[in-house]
Formats: sequence, C-alpha cells, structure tokens
Amino acid sequence: MVSYNNHQWRKLRSLKIAADPLCEYCLHHKKVTEAQEVDHVIPPTDNNDPLFYEYENLLSTCRRCHIDITHKQQSIKDTLNKLSFEEAKKLKLSLTNPRVNVDGYY
Ligand SMILES: [Zn+2]
Repeated sequence: MVSYNNHQWRKLRSLKIAADPLCEYCLHHKKVTEAQEVDHVIPPTDNNDPLFYEYENLLSTCRRCHIDITHKQQSIKDTLNKLSFEEAKKLKLSLTNPRVNVDGYY
C-alpha cells in the first residue's frame, strides 16, 4: 500500500512542483498546463520502496494526465520496473495524449 498522507511526501511534492510548475506530459505534447499533482515515473510498491522518495522518479502533472497515465501504465508496470528513470519517463510521455479527453473523446 502506498500512502501519500505524510510530511516527507508533501515536502517532496511541493519541491517538485516548485521546480517544474507545468505538467510535463502536456509540455511533451506542446501544451502548457499548470501542474497540480506529482506522478511517480516508476510506481513504488509501498512507502518503504526507495522509488517513493526518489526525486528523479517524479513527474509534475495536471490532474487529467495523471488519471490518464495511471490507467495506461497498469498494463506496462512490469516493463517500467525494468527501465531506467529516463527510459521509463520517455515511454510514459509517449503514451499520453493531452488533446484527447480521459474518456477517449475529443
Ligand atoms: Zn497534463
């Protein structure tokens, strides 16, 4: 279980959003959107997983891209775990399409 209700995470999350205030998924598709959330590039298994607090493993994201990528990464979790942060980030950025709504309609 991963819990986001702790001081260390909130601190890390605000550091990341301060450093990258725009959604990195939208930006990849040349769209400027304010980041509201922080996504883990490689999803940690629980709070003791070093991936949870690894700054390099974070991506600033808007709410829509976060929902979108959370759905899409379900089927590629095993692949993500075998990649470096950079490779995993590239793969996830290529999966999102901010011009399309989460439900698939334009
Ligand atoms: Zn976005």
